[in-house]
Amino acid sequence: MPPAKALHDNREVNPTPETAPPARFDSLALDPKLLRAVAESGYESMTPIQAKAIPIVLAGRDVMGAAQTGTGKTAAFSLPLLQKMLKHENASMSPARHPVRALVLAPTRELADQVAANVKNYAKFTQLRSTVVFGGIDMKPQTLALKAGVEVLIATPGRLLDHIEAKNAVLNQVEYVVLDEADRMLDIGFLPDLQRILSYLPRDRQTLLFSATFSPEIRRLAESYLREPVTVEVARPNATATNVEQRFYNVTDDDKRAAVRQILRQRELSQAIVFVNSKLGAARLARSFERDGLKTAALHGDKSQDERLKSLDAFKKGEVDLLVATDVAARGLDIADLPAVFNFDVPFNAEDYVHRIGRTGRAGASGLAVTLVTRDDARLIGDIERLIKKKLEIEPFELEDLRPRRPPRRSRDDDDREPAAERFEPAPRYRMPTPAVSADPFFDKPYEAAADAAPVWERAKAEPRPGKAPNIRPKKKLASLLGGH
Ligand code: AMP
Repeated sequence: MPPAKALHDNREVNPTPETAPPARFDSLALDPKLLRAVAESGYESMTPIQAKAIPIVLAGRDVMGAAQTGTGKTAAFSLPLLQKMLKHENASMSPARHPVRALVLAPTRELADQVAANVKNYAKFTQLRSTVVFGGIDMKPQTLALKAGVEVLIATPGRLLDHIEAKNAVLNQVEYVVLDEADRMLDIGFLPDLQRILSYLPRDRQTLLFSATFSPEIRRLAESYLREPVTVEVARPNATATNVEQRFYNVTDDDKRAAVRQILRQRELSQAIVFVNSKLGAARLARSFERDGLKTAALHGDKSQDERLKSLDAFKKGEVDLLVATDVAARGLDIADLPAVFNFDVPFNAEDYVHRIGRTGRAGASGLAVTLVTRDDARLIGDIERLIKKKLEIEPFELEDLRPRRPPRRSRDDDDREPAAERFEPAPRYRMPTPAVSADPFFDKPYEAAADAAPVWERAKAEPRPGKAPNIRPKKKLASLLGGH
């Protein structure tokens, strides 16, 4: 275990006030190759975590970043690390000339995959190579990529250890390490794996740790493995995003599905994630929404890795309207700028409420989070109120009656587990816009911060639009934001 120095200096170096005008990427000492990739991604100004962390990472300091997925933290660590690695850039075919120099550890396969896609994108005009390894799929293609030589390796801990043991991954030239979503890694029980992996790495390195919260366990991890880290915070732990409109509706269990459909229709929402508390519930609900005529995919722990990536991909491309997900399966997913999230079930764990609604209103966009509350949920709602330190207003929900007067006769072999009211409702009137056509050009544009105002995510509340909820824009073209076509 490396004898890291004590955590002396945890002040921010040159802190950027939240109210300062958003800084532009070209104000940074980044190579034109990286700036070009950033410009092509459509980013114009830095998000707060980027403005704060990039100069510190460029200066060679260890960082403890309190930032959730959705704040732009991937670029905050990838860009300066790529910049520092550019001195090793070369076009040689020899694997020996491309040793692993940066290692990014992530808790879930999905997050690892997303980080890898981002790194590839930011490095696309350089000769630096990157690859990702995670469990649940064949090791062979990963082995080939590792053996060919990569400068940046993104990995989940378990699979990385398999590759280390098989001698596919050699980590003795690692200069930079990122522990992404470190709190989640500890929650999942990866601490022993992390400790083993870190023991293989050179002591003389730069280490960055990102976590949504700084629990005592996270602080202990930082004390053991980081050297005089600079703490960078962009949002209070457990703070809910200010640009998310949070609604709580009182409904009965039987009315929940109809309520979701009604809200989608009334708000003209094209896509949403629907969170449930159980794997079985997710599978069942996804099938029911399909029967209602909504294109639906399920994301839960009983699905194979391949199926999960396929569901996510279909959703990102706009081929699927609803993604029904459990907390574990959805953790850390970059489904940024999603217009709406539904809590079909109030989460058992109040912290999951914060994570769920963090799927919408990301990187400056606005969003809607609807929680469907039944009479049995009082205790769970109380837990959320205590966590976010706010009294929640639970509104009654008026369900439109779309049922035809005389329902068609049911055949005997109809599945009688479904409530009759659900079965005879017509399919929803709204349809998804075709993914290739943008309904609202605003959502084809990446986040743009005005030079003279507070960051967009703080301004959203102050700019209500007539006739609409203040921070809901209809018919968002999500697919393009997510990199789909
Ligand atoms: P992350 O927190 O790294 O998962 O990033 C969340 C989303 O924000 C990703 O889809 C990024 O592509 C996007 N993003 C990152 N930085 C910026 C930026 N400066 N401007 C606009 N979008 C960004």
